[in-house]
Amino acid sequence: MAMTRGGPVRVVASVGAAVAAGRFTSSTVSSVSLGGVYTVGERPQGNSTSDWVPSYDPAVARLYALPQRHSSRAQQRLNYAAKRQPWLIRGMTTESAVEAVEAGEIPVLKGTGEGDLSQQVTRKYLIGKTQEELEGIALSFGEQKYRGKQMHQLIYKNKIRTVKELAQIPKQLRDAMESAGWNIGRSPIHHVATSKDGTVKILLRLDDSRLVEAVGIPVKDKEGNAKLTVCVSSQVGCALKCAFCATGKGGFARNLKSHEIVDQVLTIEDIFRQRVTNIVFMGMGEPLMNLEAVLNAHRTINKELLIGQRMMTISTVGVPNTIRRLAAHKLQSTLAISLHAPNQDLRSQIVPSAKGYPLDALLEDCKYYFETTGRRLSFEYTLLAGVNDQREHAEELATLLHQWDLGRHVNIIPYNPIADSEFERPTKARVLAFVETLSKRRVTTSVRVTRGLDANAACGQLRNEFQKTPLQAPMELSVPA
Ligand code: SAH
Repeated sequence: MAMTRGGPVRVVASVGAAVAAGRFTSSTVSSVSLGGVYTVGERPQGNSTSDWVPSYDPAVARLYALPQRHSSRAQQRLNYAAKRQPWLIRGMTTESAVEAVEAGEIPVLKGTGEGDLSQQVTRKYLIGKTQEELEGIALSFGEQKYRGKQMHQLIYKNKIRTVKELAQIPKQLRDAMESAGWNIGRSPIHHVATSKDGTVKILLRLDDSRLVEAVGIPVKDKEGNAKLTVCVSSQVGCALKCAFCATGKGGFARNLKSHEIVDQVLTIEDIFRQRVTNIVFMGMGEPLMNLEAVLNAHRTINKELLIGQRMMTISTVGVPNTIRRLAAHKLQSTLAISLHAPNQDLRSQIVPSAKGYPLDALLEDCKYYFETTGRRLSFEYTLLAGVNDQREHAEELATLLHQWDLGRHVNIIPYNPIADSEFERPTKARVLAFVETLSKRRVTTSVRVTRGLDANAACGQLRNEFQKTPLQAPMELSVPA
């Protein structure tokens, strides 16, 4: 592929080339675009993802009544989407929903969304429990209340991994708890990769042998204080398939349970022997597709691990009807929106799920979030050479952010090359020009320094190396000394 370093035009990727050549016009896109019929519907309230699926939903009913001329595969996928993720298709006409499914634009969660967790049905996890709840558990076994406080300390501070190893707790209580199915909820470390800059990427092997990634990123702040950020995953894989993301390429397996999210933080603290200062939900998966577990993990990290809400960032590409739901929780954490493009046309080429959630609707929901929580949002923008990194894109982005007045901070992420992708990383000059254009328009930026490139820095990359399909780990463990 032709590439002129530092030159004005870099033909780098099929999408980029098409955009550069003007082949991707809005009409090409709108032939499958759903924007025109999208309506903001409210997802029913409930406690788990399955509760969100209403027993009767007109969108579901309509899709079940699809005429048979559609391919049985499309019919099947659509029924699946209708059952499990009706909010993704609500408001679409049947025709456009069929088109969208056939074009692969509706992320269809394969499997049950729970994974093969038959083992876990009777399992109960202590991670996530408050001190009061742990005291209640101790009392329920006829033990004294203070055992709960001890367990709290041992689990969250000492990071004991199994009930058996809770040495201060009487053996009788440990045995009784184990027989009753209580686990702490820690997963074995399957692999650790350390990069020269100190970044550590880990793979945890979950109960169903699936692998999930977490990254520990040590930094010094301006005052020279040691900070430790953990990039946590919220799902095993991801259904949303952003064009440049390694996680999406590996497919989607299941949502993480809240203890599996908290475990990532505990493990990184353990490896670094240092307190974690910041959490970013920017690992594998889309946090808002697993909102309940993410909220529970957020609570535990805040209340039990004592990491401030303001030290946490939840990053989303945007999932219909979830931002408003999140707003109701009035978190003091930052909501970061993965924008990646300043307009709907370009965005929907890079982020396929944007076709079902147009930019205007997303920003409308962001506005609601800001008004409800009082927290400004931040925006992420992955710079892809020749695709979305021109000065005009920066100008248009600045205009968009001023127009919506939601926040004026953009976190620029120069593309991290991943396997099987034709995108290219922009030159330093191009990144600087983008930053400069934004700053002239009073938009502040931070450019994400690529950490741990030698340890497969991009999301989902390490996992993909170990586990493509099926998303199950080989049985051998490689635990570092
Ligand atoms: N699903 C969430 C979290 C994804 S990871 C979201 O979309 O926000 C966090 C950020 O890294 C997202 O903005 C994502 O688009 C970006 N990202 C993923 N792969 C990347 C890559 N190879 N290079 C640069 N940024 C990438």
